[in-house]
Amino acid sequence: MDRNRGVGFVTVMAGGGSSTGNVRVRKVVVVGGGIVGASSAYFLAKRGVEVEVLESNGVACAASGKAGGFLALDWNDEGGNPVGSLSRASFSLHKELARDFGPDAIGYRLISAVAANLPENARHEASKASYLGYVSRETVIGTTETCAQVHPEKLTKALMRGSSATVTIAKVIGINHSDSKITSLRMEGGATRPIADDEMVVFALGPWSNLVSKELGLPTFYGQKALSMVVPTDPPLSPYASFTNWRGKSPEIYPRADEAYVCGFGESLRIVTEKPDEVVPLESGERQLRAFTKEILGSMGDNVPVRACHLPLAEDGIPVIGSLESNGAENGVLAAGHSCWGILNGPATGKVVSELICDGEISLIPKWVVSSISPARFASRTRSR
Ligand SMILES: Cc1cc2nc3c(=O)[nH]c(=O)nc-3n(C[C@H](O)[C@H](O)[C@H](O)COP(=O)(O)OP(=O)(O)OC[C@H]3O[C@@H](n4cnc5c(N)ncnc54)[C@H](O)[C@@H]3O)c2cc1C
Repeated sequence: MDRNRGVGFVTVMAGGGSSTGNVRVRKVVVVGGGIVGASSAYFLAKRGVEVEVLESNGVACAASGKAGGFLALDWNDEGGNPVGSLSRASFSLHKELARDFGPDAIGYRLISAVAANLPENARHEASKASYLGYVSRETVIGTTETCAQVHPEKLTKALMRGSSATVTIAKVIGINHSDSKITSLRMEGGATRPIADDEMVVFALGPWSNLVSKELGLPTFYGQKALSMVVPTDPPLSPYASFTNWRGKSPEIYPRADEAYVCGFGESLRIVTEKPDEVVPLESGERQLRAFTKEILGSMGDNVPVRACHLPLAEDGIPVIGSLESNGAENGVLAAGHSCWGILNGPATGKVVSELICDGEISLIPKWVVSSISPARFASRTRSR
């Protein structure tokens, strides 16, 4: 069987929900309200599917609300990386979303990018508008032809609103399933959410995807904690995303219209056990981020909190997007493990999820990419059920 086509969609035609007539699934339950869950909800809704979102803490409460929002057309192209096609498709979708929502509503704009060496032991207190004056050597690594940015929290929330999904704050703690289908979701507090024959489930849990791994037998997912600050800037910094080299670390700065996003100081990979609202910075990382921000932006960031969140990573570093049929759940789809490119690749992921559910096959990206990112690539692993 061609697993890329094999989402096993049910044959009930959409009740009142379908405007296209293609829809075979009446309703989709999306678990997780980050950029991947919100994008899935948005593109499913565009196909006439009703969407219910189960989110444990709040829409965009984790990495999707705390990321930088840098977008690049072709930075994933090298070496036959399957993520390249996803990124190219998503870069175009971001442009369309900016037209649909209005660029300012989601912080979309074209931006250049530089690799910047920062001088040792120098303190920059000069004009914030020309912060690149501080840089001792810079190389342009991206232009406005191929680079852009969004405000991740604004975009995620706009996508969710645009989907008209019902969002319920509820934590899913388990999956009940038969040999071939998810039959219900177990919720914290003892309730269950039955999954009807004309419903499907999309898991978009970022670094918390071990819920699916554990119950449906996929490899472990990891998180890599990284820190960020959002510093108000008036006047705005010049629109250059800077990928710096500072004291052996690589912090990044993304100027936005009225603030500067500064991030870096990632920790090593680990299994994420904290709840989204329990993720806090390590003291050493916070010290370094504050020192870096002070050097670049002077005292502007002094009272700004440092936030922490996790890059979500699959075992092989490639996102896992596709049907869970080979894991015994033909009415389930997984979309997770987007690493440092989840904001860029969120919209294409959502569109791919919607095509899989509504058409039974994916046309946005080439077939070889569909197989490379599918959960079925781990199918030889023993299922622990
Ligand atoms: C510091 C930093 C900077 C970044 N910068 C960029 C960038 O510039 N460009 C870019 O493209 N990407 C960037 N990324 C990566 C990007 O943020 C992530 O890849 C992306 O946000 C992942 O989205 P997600 O929806 O998969 O996961 P998340 O945003 O983690 O969302 C998962 C959601 O699931 C919910 N959840 C968890 N457990 C449960 C449960 N049991 N039941 C119900 N809900 C649950 C959580 O509350 C959360 O809302 C950055 C990441 C970091 C950490």
